[in-house]
Amino acid sequence: MASSTQGQVITCKAAVAYEANKPLVVEDVQVAPPQAGEVRIKILSTALCHTDYYTWSGKDPEGLFPCILGHEAAGIVESVGEGVTDVQPGDHVIPCYQAECKNCKMCNSGKTNLCGKVRGATGVGVMMSDRKSRFSVNGKPIYHFMGTSTFSQYTVVHDVSVAKINPQAPLDKVCLLGCGVSTVLEQYGILQRLKQVQLLLFLGLAQLDLQLLRGQNQLVLLGLLALTLMPRSLMLLRTLESQSL
Ligand SMILES: [Zn+2]
Ligand SMILES: [Zn+2]
Repeated sequence: MASSTQGQVITCKAAVAYEANKPLVVEDVQVAPPQAGEVRIKILSTALCHTDYYTWSGKDPEGLFPCILGHEAAGIVESVGEGVTDVQPGDHVIPCYQAECKNCKMCNSGKTNLCGKVRGATGVGVMMSDRKSRFSVNGKPIYHFMGTSTFSQYTVVHDVSVAKINPQAPLDKVCLLGCGVSTVLEQYGILQRLKQVQLLLFLGLAQLDLQLLRGQNQLVLLGLLALTLMPRSLMLLRTLESQSL
């Protein structure tokens, strides 16, 4: 369903950070329509994360001013640019500062979620298609922040930076999935993967039937497992393997 604002510049309220360490200024900003591969979202809930504070403080080497901070939010798609098929107007979504294009080297690696498709643009506060911002105040551009800029009633993000969610989900709560909750889950996922690596190493060692392990206590075993996490230790293991055969 097309919205009445589709294709139009929207004027709305946003909290603009004009300078580091200076109070944000809530004022009218102009939000340009989404270009190809972009999504304009009506932000209904946003949270404050320490990373917003960090950039605002001036300590972030990537921090650019003036900008619109905010990266932990939820909202409803207002309109989409050409070629966007994953979401449509009316969808409930969470903007994601970490994109997932499902097509780049990083996305295909299965080892990381650090998608590189739009990072070159989001890292310098612009959109990828034309290297420009969609925000302005009286014609003066305002930088995007983390590819999300959710301290605004409307924002524009890349389509690979949007996650569609269940419309029943309460936006004032699920907005936390945009950073805090997912960051904790990611740490848990890393731990899980580390456990899997350790299990594989254990099975590998068991297969080698190293005399060294026989009759030794668990500390020795754990020490070997820790050593195997380092490439140089793999050489050691190969040596041990050859000696045990
Ligand atoms: Zn955060
Ligand atoms: Zn990617």
